[in-house]
Amino acid sequence: MTAAVYTARKRLKAIMLTKEFGGQPMWTMDIENYMGYQFISGPELMEKFDEQVRQFPIEIKYEEVTSLAHNADGTFSVISDGGEYQAQAVIIASGKRPRCLEVPGEAEFTGRGVSYCATCDGPLFADKNVAIIGGGNSALQAAIEVSGVAAKVYLISLTDYTAEPIVIEKLKELAQPVIEFIGYTTTEVKGAQAVETLIIINNETKEQTELAVQGVFVEIGLLPNSEFCKGILTFNKYREVVTDCRTRTHIPGLFAAGDVTNGPDKQIVIAAGDGAKAAMVAYEYLLHKRGDR
Ligand SMILES: Cc1cc2nc3c(=O)[nH]c(=O)nc-3n(C[C@H](O)[C@H](O)[C@H](O)COP(=O)(O)OP(=O)(O)OC[C@H]3O[C@@H](n4cnc5c(N)ncnc54)[C@H](O)[C@@H]3O)c2cc1C
Repeated sequence: MTAAVYTARKRLKAIMLTKEFGGQPMWTMDIENYMGYQFISGPELMEKFDEQVRQFPIEIKYEEVTSLAHNADGTFSVISDGGEYQAQAVIIASGKRPRCLEVPGEAEFTGRGVSYCATCDGPLFADKNVAIIGGGNSALQAAIEVSGVAAKVYLISLTDYTAEPIVIEKLKELAQPVIEFIGYTTTEVKGAQAVETLIIINNETKEQTELAVQGVFVEIGLLPNSEFCKGILTFNKYREVVTDCRTRTHIPGLFAAGDVTNGPDKQIVIAAGDGAKAAMVAYEYLLHKRGDR
């Protein structure tokens, strides 16, 4: 959205293709580090972004990009589930999506107790028992949020917590403490019509525990949405798009911004900054290209 605003301000003819509105900020109620807002929920912040986008004549299409081609004349073809678009320059800002556990029962019970978004689905588990899987910021944040509504919250982490100290402190200060299983592997989600139990195994003793839960929140990290540019771009070992410090990929005219890139820090302010940078560098690229003709 930031890249779109910057391209519009440069009077470029831009189209924004997006699968869903808002991206990852839609999954959190608690943003305390986006400058200008001391505290704001993710969906509210994205509404503010959207209001700003709509001040400009930016064409927005809700479509999923499925492939990207670099043509012999240096232009790009962007293919989506809604059509095909030709562009002189492309900015990839497709972010990340939740990683799956890949254990038996997970796929079967997704939407029937298994969820990847505690903020969105937490209220559905009022007075029920839930398990949160993970030990990073997202998992602990999810445990903190859900502890306000659920009857019991189990937090299952494969290793010691990797969350920031301030988030760990918040978890320890909860009025209704969560039940922690640190050093446990989740091996199966079980149930009939919906989730009924979760099987975990102690990494050292190999002792198995079956927890009675109705909800399982998987918060074990994110994967980059980079599949559609496989084959034309260089990825790092995490499948992130490799860019230089000016958001340029190795292909002239193709830029990448935000969480989908190899930039080490994943934050809204950084993604937005990258988006602004990518639009300005794309503008510079297009000016030079026009000058060359
Ligand atoms: C639970 C949680 C809490 C967080 N809390 C904070 C916080 O407090 N402060 C902070 O600064 N950061 C926070 N973050 C991180 C922050 O949300 C990300 O760094 C930021 O959203 C990255 O922005 P992005 O635009 O690069 O990607 P995303 O937000 O992931 O957006 C990518 C967009 O691209 C779309 N897309 C993906 N693939 C395609 C495709 N093939 N075709 C079309 N569209 C596609 C998606 O639908 C989405 O709209 C949090 C993240 C999570 C998960």
